Amino acid sequence: MFPRAFHYHRAGSLKEAATMIEQLGDEAKLLAGGQSLIPLMKLRFANPKHLVDLNFVPGVSYIKEEKNTVRFGALTRHSDIENSTAAARIPIIHDCAAGIADVQIRNRGTIGGSLAEADPSGDWAVVLSTLDTTIHCVGRKGKRSIPLSEFIADAYTTSLEKDEVVSEVAVKVPAKGSGGAYLAFKRTAPVYPTASVAVNLVMNGDTCKDARIALGCVGLTAIKASEAEAALRGQAINDHALNTAAEAARAAADPQPDMRGSVDYKRALVAALVKRAIAVAVRRARGEQVELGHLYA
Ligand SMILES: Cc1cc2nc3c(=O)[nH]c(=O)nc-3n(C[C@H](O)[C@H](O)[C@H](O)COP(=O)(O)OP(=O)(O)OC[C@H]3O[C@@H](n4cnc5c(N)ncnc54)[C@H](O)[C@@H]3O)c2cc1C
Repeated sequence: MFPRAFHYHRAGSLKEAATMIEQLGDEAKLLAGGQSLIPLMKLRFANPKHLVDLNFVPGVSYIKEEKNTVRFGALTRHSDIENSTAAARIPIIHDCAAGIADVQIRNRGTIGGSLAEADPSGDWAVVLSTLDTTIHCVGRKGKRSIPLSEFIADAYTTSLEKDEVVSEVAVKVPAKGSGGAYLAFKRTAPVYPTASVAVNLVMNGDTCKDARIALGCVGLTAIKASEAEAALRGQAINDHALNTAAEAARAAADPQPDMRGSVDYKRALVAALVKRAIAVAVRRARGEQVELGHLYA
């Protein structure tokens, strides 16, 4: 289906985009990669009267590493991140970027658009919630920085004001001795996962000093699996710790039944994914190069 007719506007800067969406009112939408918005418009679930295109704003697609922080410009495409040195250095970033849909979608979709969409099935929010991530925004009145934990308020809802545009996603480089892994279970590549798990561990020899675990697609937003994290902290990662963490993650999952599976099926999936992701995170924390791809039905 064709989208309903709309007026097209091209922003020359993020500040101009912020001013435009404020002035054009509730029926205006920003356009980044268009990989969430355009399908919704074609299905006529979204019918904006005005689109403000960010794709011609100079200097908003970049990956920079400064003072132990990796900075992604909001318009940085998933595929640019997949192939970046930052992704080589922080493998969980590669797991995420390389596993999003197919190459066409990765070539257009952006990290800023993905977080702003706050789709409960989106990959970036799950992965970045296990790292120290800050979202930088530009508004008509100036700049604002929001921790990711406060940025995503609910399904498809962020704490952005109407006149704010995401300008940058800043991620702290994990401490030495850290290892992370992101694993999703999917029916095919160009669909969202049935369930996914992100794990970041800080190891001291065989003992886990700190753990962060987030579950994707099994709640309205990424779920922090606090009990699973607690089951690993201060422990050697053995079968007992893995099983305890997996059971805690299963209990934390809050999935909806749908064509991808029942509630019990998705919970069982989460438990299995947590174990596998922890095992890879431990190996990576030891400095091993472990390639990880999503699992397909
Ligand atoms: C078939 C298909 C499969 C997909 N599979 C996956 C998947 O497996 N995993 C996954 O994570 N994603 C998946 N996606 C979504 C994809 O990752 C999108 O790129 C992403 O969700 C949105 O990014 P975008 O740049 O395309 O944003 P757009 O579609 O352009 O915009 C999305 C929303 O964010 C707003 N927005 C965009 N940029 C900004 C900004 N800088 N500041 C403020 N608001 C902004 C827009 O106004 C809009 O409301 C899939 C998409 C398709 C079509």
